Amino acid sequence: MKVLLYSAKDFEIPYLEKANNNKYQLTFTKEALSSQTAMMSVGYDAISIFSADEACFLTIEKLKDFGIKYITLRSVGYDNVNLRTASRLKIRVANVPAYSPYAIAEHSVALLLALNRKLIESNLRVQHYNFNLDNLVGIDLNEKTVGIIGTGRIGSVMTKIMHGFGCNVIGYDIEENNKLIDDYNLRYTTLKKLCELSDIISLHIPLNAETHSLINENIISEMKTGVILINTARGAVINTEDVINGLKNGKIGALGIDVYENEKGLFFNDHSQDIPNDEMLMILNAMPNVLMTGHHAFLTDEALTNIAETTIHNLDCWNSGLETGNELTEIIYLS
Ligand code: NAD
Repeated sequence: MKVLLYSAKDFEIPYLEKANNNKYQLTFTKEALSSQTAMMSVGYDAISIFSADEACFLTIEKLKDFGIKYITLRSVGYDNVNLRTASRLKIRVANVPAYSPYAIAEHSVALLLALNRKLIESNLRVQHYNFNLDNLVGIDLNEKTVGIIGTGRIGSVMTKIMHGFGCNVIGYDIEENNKLIDDYNLRYTTLKKLCELSDIISLHIPLNAETHSLINENIISEMKTGVILINTARGAVINTEDVINGLKNGKIGALGIDVYENEKGLFFNDHSQDIPNDEMLMILNAMPNVLMTGHHAFLTDEALTNIAETTIHNLDCWNSGLETGNELTEIIYLS
């Protein structure tokens, strides 16, 4: 089987080559999949994509014309794939459903701790031999209320970690997980109540039609003044403009994000020599109580190994005419 891997990054290629063990003919390209770059897939049986690739209606129509039979995602999230078109055109799509929920949850905690204890500012001062402690006051996390929105794989690990910090953990999800109630005393509540009660809110929901802009002006108005908001899920689950307003008026005390709603075409590449032209990003970068990372919560050795192994597993199954167990057939997509 010949496989073209879009958006291939230097850090992941050794993992993919090791997992492949020369089984399939892998070609790596730094180009992202789009309706323009779909043409590159001519002559391949399968493609592999990541979260910044765009497999929209038009792109998938083109991929079909070019003979692509399989799309294997090197990500958990699949909001960038029009599954309805893929299933109509009989292109099989699979993801990596659980490569390491620990990587993402631990990154969420890293953002929370760094923001709360002002580690970036503190380190900048130390580098300048300034050991003044003014404006570095944080809060104890012990006994604070943490609201977990989305208690699936990543949200479950986040619940466990926050429980370990001595926090009261409350959750909002369309499906309750009884194990979290039993093991960590998690209490489920409504989204509104979670916002009213939480000192810290962490988002772990997928991006879909229901969760798009879930965190908007209305729901922010229900939050406690000074709430710390963490988002490692997908950028568009928060309305960034509304969150910026919440930061400006003090309703939101601090924001930690690994994802950004306009990250496509921006993240994963070096734009340090470009003139910045994204106003929201410029505002976020300028705020002392905002900490942003460039979608790298997944970047651990364990996660990269699992992503590579599951990607090759998906290809193995298709090559042998089997189901992968990771097949995406659900029709949840954003038009
Ligand atoms: P998961 O499917 O295990 O959990 C998602 C949870 O969200 C489920 O419990 C589900 O019931 C709940 N949910 C779905 N729709 C909802 C709604 N409308 N309202 C409330 N709850 C809802 O997924 P996961 O593995 O925990 O991953 C969560 C998300 O994290 C992914 O979809 C992906 O977008 C994101 N993610 C980000 C990174 C990163 O590097 N920053 C890496 C992996 C995943």
